[in-house]
Amino acid sequence: MVNSDSLSSWHLATQNCGPMETNSFLLWQNREAVIIDPSIGADELLQKMRDLHSDGIRLIAIWNTHGHIDHVYDNARWKAEFDVPIFCHSADHFFLEHLREQSLWFGLAEPEVVPPDELLHEGQTLKVGDLEVQVLELPGHSPGSVAFYFDDHLVSGDVIFHHSYGRVDLPGADAKQLGRSLERVLQMPAQTQILCGHGALTSVGAEAQGNTAARDLMAKLAA
Ligand SMILES: [Zn+2]
Repeated sequence: MVNSDSLSSWHLATQNCGPMETNSFLLWQNREAVIIDPSIGADELLQKMRDLHSDGIRLIAIWNTHGHIDHVYDNARWKAEFDVPIFCHSADHFFLEHLREQSLWFGLAEPEVVPPDELLHEGQTLKVGDLEVQVLELPGHSPGSVAFYFDDHLVSGDVIFHHSYGRVDLPGADAKQLGRSLERVLQMPAQTQILCGHGALTSVGAEAQGNTAARDLMAKLAA
């Protein structure tokens, strides 16, 4: 799937990848591109990036919303081909260094371990071409979960899903933190499109109305 918004002239391609049906995103604007969460066998996006490269568009970075194996599985492959830095939050370094253990949890072949090169943190502004992207810390599903926000779009990782939210039973997860992160997302402008780490695209408006699971979690924590 390729979405493009001709007004602001940024482009986004999405691929649903691997046994956990993880969404990977290729975002590009004005001669620069980033891959967000290169998951297991994101080959359509890899081919798309090779085509863009032939057209003079350069991959500048690999961004991870968090360190769970299905979101970082192909970091090594993309880094080997394009020689670009990996960005991740410091609180999720642990996961990138322990891909062996994570591959055992999920019954996957172990990918090559590559440490991150750059740290992500709250308030940071990243650029892809002329497009400014804000980094939001949204911990809870993992301690170093972040989202990427640009032009009314939020790449949310596994914080929120369509009428659901990320699991809190993995090491380092914290339901209270996730409740606060969900609150923050649901207070964003209603028209914000949410590009989830799994499943369908949704919006803040739709989730503020219909995500009873998130509402229940937030109410439980407030009680
Ligand atoms: Zn996850």
